[in-house]
Amino acid sequence: YHVWISEIMLQQTRAAVVRGYYLRFLDGLPSVRDLAEVDDDALMKLWQGLGYYSRAHNLHRAAQVIATEHQGIFPKDFDSIRALPGVGDYTAGAIASFAFDLPYPAVDGNVLRVISRLLASELPIDTLSGKRLCTQAVEELLATQLPPSKLGQALIELGALVCTPQSPQCSACPASSWCRVAELPLARLLPIKGKKLTLRDRYFSYIYTTSRQQVLLEKRGRTDIWRGLYQFPLFESDSPQTPEAVARWLEHELSYSGELRLAPTTFSLEHRLSHQILHITIYTAELESDTLGSSKYQWVRESELGDYALPTPLVRFLEQLH
Ligand code: SF4
Repeated sequence: YHVWISEIMLQQTRAAVVRGYYLRFLDGLPSVRDLAEVDDDALMKLWQGLGYYSRAHNLHRAAQVIATEHQGIFPKDFDSIRALPGVGDYTAGAIASFAFDLPYPAVDGNVLRVISRLLASELPIDTLSGKRLCTQAVEELLATQLPPSKLGQALIELGALVCTPQSPQCSACPASSWCRVAELPLARLLPIKGKKLTLRDRYFSYIYTTSRQQVLLEKRGRTDIWRGLYQFPLFESDSPQTPEAVARWLEHELSYSGELRLAPTTFSLEHRLSHQILHITIYTAELESDTLGSSKYQWVRESELGDYALPTPLVRFLEQLH
C-alpha cells in the first residue's frame, strides 16, 4: 500500500514536494480499506495542491477494486497490479519489484536516460523502439542474480543523483567502467527525444463572486483537469477576454437580474501543466442579492472556504486576498 501510494504521488511530482503529502495521506488513510471508504471531498482535500487530480480518483477506484475483488489485500502478482485503475507498466513494475521482489522492470525517465547512456543508444526514448531497447536491457540485468527491488531502485537513484540530465557525474559513477559514454561530451547529449511537445493555451477568467459573507462555488466536472475540485464561476476561452465580456458572461451564467460590475483585478498568473498553459485572471464581484436563477452553483460561507479543496491558483488568490 505504501509503495503504491508513493509511486502514484511521484508521477509528475518531485520527491521533495511529495514527502509532506505522503505522510499526511497515510496518516489520514492508513489502509487500503480506509482509502476505499473515504468520501470524495475528503480525498480531494488530502490531495489539494499536489496536482494531476485524476491520480487521486484512480487511487480511490483502485482501492475499491482491491476491497471487493481482493478481499482488501493488495494483490501480489504483476497482472492483477497492472489491471488496477491508474497503474501503467512503470508503476506495476515498480510495485511488483520494490514491494514483492518480482523480476519486472520499472523503467521511468531516469532509467531511460541511464540505460541510453550506458549503451550509447541514439534511439529516441519517446519512441516504441527506444523504450523497448531500454526495457530489454533492464530485463537482461534482472536475469542476473541481483535482487529486483535493489536493481530497480539503484537504477532510478543513479539517474536521479549521479547520471542527471544536464551534468552527469561520471567520475563518481559506480557504472563508469562499463558505460560507453563515460566522461564523453556525448553523455550530456543523450538521451535523444523525437517528438516536440505542443502546448495548448487556455484562458481562464474566474470571478470571485460574493454576497452577504458568502462565496459562490461549483464542483468541477469529471472530464478535465482538477477533477472533483471546487472553483469560483469560470469563463473559459481560447483568447484573452475584456472585463466587460466576463461580466456579461457571469450575468448570463447566473441568470442575474441586475447589472453586474467587476472590481479591477490585480491577480493574474500563468500556470503550466504538462501539455497546457493556463492563463488565469481572477476578478471579484459583489452581488447585492444572493438569489440566483441558476442552481449550478452553491453559496458557501467565506469562513468555511478552507473546508473545500480548490486548485492551487485559487488558493494563492485567497492567500493574497486575506
Ligand atoms: Fe551516466 Fe556518466 Fe555514469 Fe555513464 S558514467 S551512467 S554517463 S554518470
